[in-house]
Amino acid sequence: MIRGMVLSLLTAMLVPETGLKALLAQIDKKRLQATVEKLASFPTRNTSSQELKEACEWMASEFRKLPGCEVEIMSYPVKASQRIPKDTTAFQVIATLRGTTDRTIIVGGHIDTINTKADPLTGRAPGANDDASGVALTLEMARLASQRKWNQTLKFVAFSGEEQGLLGSTALAKRAKAEAWPIEAVFSNDMVGNSSNKAGLKDTKHVRVFSEEGEGHESRELARFIEWTARRELKGFGVKLVFRRDRFGRGGDHTPFVAEGFTAVRFVEVHEEYSRQHTSDDLPEAIDFGYLANNVRANFAAFASLANASMAPTDVRIVRDQSHDTSLSWKSLPGVKHVVYWRQTTSAIWQESREVGTANKAKINLVNKDDHVFAVGALGGTPVEAK
Ligand SMILES: [Zn+2]
Repeated sequence: MIRGMVLSLLTAMLVPETGLKALLAQIDKKRLQATVEKLASFPTRNTSSQELKEACEWMASEFRKLPGCEVEIMSYPVKASQRIPKDTTAFQVIATLRGTTDRTIIVGGHIDTINTKADPLTGRAPGANDDASGVALTLEMARLASQRKWNQTLKFVAFSGEEQGLLGSTALAKRAKAEAWPIEAVFSNDMVGNSSNKAGLKDTKHVRVFSEEGEGHESRELARFIEWTARRELKGFGVKLVFRRDRFGRGGDHTPFVAEGFTAVRFVEVHEEYSRQHTSDDLPEAIDFGYLANNVRANFAAFASLANASMAPTDVRIVRDQSHDTSLSWKSLPGVKHVVYWRQTTSAIWQESREVGTANKAKINLVNKDDHVFAVGALGGTPVEAK
């Protein structure tokens, strides 16, 4: 007993602090700014350009600095089309931190840019917000995550071909499906650096998370869990849920993953400035790096939680008795701790939760099942709605 205490005291002294709070405290807006400025310094990062490959090689070199990080520059063929002058090979970067399981969580942003007001290949296209902001966030997440071991395998992706129709994310999602990657969640971050726009609208306290339209879709449940985690773990910053696949007339790299049957959501700032997008004006000067740092926090709080959670329960049931209490049952692996969540049927967000230990059932006293939606999750994992 004493020996154990001495050992754990020694370990605590020798191992750097890698709990969530300690990792969140390391998020560095100066480092985010340096990444965005470096990426925006390439004249363009158009998917068809030589500079795209150079930007990918730079990203790969940054990932390779992280302990335990395996880095791949993935190539894929792209066909000539409206925004692709001729058939070519495109590149994107995938960095992996292997966990003790193959269960996989992905975060990414797109490294490619476009200038639709000039020659798409040679026009200056700095793409600081769209989407060096999402790529810088992804790299910062990898830096934080590389400091300790996680249960799940974590992948950090700089997608390309986004501006030509989600080509890189489509190639990766199809490959993941073909190779049967057990992906549990994809966080796509696309434009997460602007906290205000030229119309005078400003919101430094929220990021939007878009998820699939259907109530009960796993992507919707992931979004709801991300909101709940941010509310619990962060002070003064939260998630604004939008129950839509994406904005009108726009797309993002989460959608090809959903199309292949995976669970995926999109993070995007609350107030976009449309006049800067896809022009030479998408510059680092317009980015609020403190806001970008908060978006790293909102992503990482949920990402880290999922990265260590046990498998989600299955067969989550509400007992249909006439009672003032709500009884629930589910199936899971032995020894897994669970949390019961509930909300009013009209509420989009989880309002209450309770840790219920390792049993496969729970009773929530004096909360009426008729008026509430219930769910059960493995501790730290996305809840599964009770039926
Ligand atoms: Zn974008």
